[in-house]
Amino acid sequence: MDTAILYTIIYCFFAGIFVAPPSEFVSAGITIQNLLSDWLGSEDFNFIYYHIKRTSATLIVHSLIPLGYYLGLGLFAPELNLFSLDQTGIGWLVYLLSSLLLPGLSAICVLYWHRKKWDYHPIARQLNLLGDANSSWRSVASSINVEFRRVDKFTSGTPSRLVAVTDSWIIKTSTYNVYVAHQNDIHLSLSDSEEHALSYQNQMAVQYLNIQVSPVESGLKPFTIRLNSLELGDLKEKLQAPIRNARNIVIHQSLSDRFLQAFVETVQHNSVFIPPPEMELEQCIGCMQKTSNVKLQRQCEVPPDDVPQPPEAAPACLQCFCRPMWCLECMGKWFASRQDQLRPDTWLSGKSPCPTCRATFCLLDVCRIHGGTSD
Ligand SMILES: [Zn+2]
Ligand SMILES: [Zn+2]
Ligand SMILES: [Zn+2]
Repeated sequence: MDTAILYTIIYCFFAGIFVAPPSEFVSAGITIQNLLSDWLGSEDFNFIYYHIKRTSATLIVHSLIPLGYYLGLGLFAPELNLFSLDQTGIGWLVYLLSSLLLPGLSAICVLYWHRKKWDYHPIARQLNLLGDANSSWRSVASSINVEFRRVDKFTSGTPSRLVAVTDSWIIKTSTYNVYVAHQNDIHLSLSDSEEHALSYQNQMAVQYLNIQVSPVESGLKPFTIRLNSLELGDLKEKLQAPIRNARNIVIHQSLSDRFLQAFVETVQHNSVFIPPPEMELEQCIGCMQKTSNVKLQRQCEVPPDDVPQPPEAAPACLQCFCRPMWCLECMGKWFASRQDQLRPDTWLSGKSPCPTCRATFCLLDVCRIHGGTSD
């Protein structure tokens, strides 16, 4: 094959991997964040400044790709005479000029962004819209940085295509930009889903969900976040607004999410515990967010003593005397964690010890508290 064509194919391949690295290559070291890690600083510690620098560097480095192609082609295909300008064709001269112009314009653009310590960078301008009239974008940036340092944030994706949800912010990074919205200022809607079969032999398929984040009052542009449907449960835990599913997209849930749903639905049919008037309901000690809303009370039938039980039978349920300390979801997660993880079909009929006193209970014994919240 002609060396020039071969070189072109190889160059396009590597430039493609460099510009939009598949996740397998992200840790392999040929990304801008790995190449410039010293200059970029720490993403965890200084999220916004890290991405201001990353997007600026990305723009400049990517703008050098056409010039790199020209120089490489000149070396690999000397017959094109690319380095003697009087002998190359007018087409190549135009290409060379534009590939020199491109990094020049990018550099001017980044210099403009950099004025007044990055005041003109698109990310900074965006944050300006998120702060109140008297504060600068820097106070919004520091709020985001502080929340991004916390370990309880939700994250998904790779550094240049990251989705992060902190207590107040929802963030998406892309190659040349970062999108930010405040949790109190958004409508979320499930806009689309894609399914990819992992293999044709088993039924396993990965489902990706596209969720549109539409800022309401700040006037920022809407953006779409994309994630694996199995991550939806974790995402929802961190979100304050519901995700509308107007198109009724069927979501593939993770096993634990599906069990939790079945657990909550089953418990709705159980008897309800009416707390004595002096009883004060405290916060759930599992999630520290909801008020405790379940009480374990033996409701199931006790096997009579004279009927011999098979030795492998689960222990009979016992009365638990603990005060309510858990919410329904946390109780469901605890229950699932005590089941045989390889046999999910048996979970609903399984038993578990009370998380506090270890008294055995089954699903029938989980009673909602009258007047308690049950969402
Ligand atoms: Zn809880
Ligand atoms: Zn108990
Ligand atoms: Zn029971």
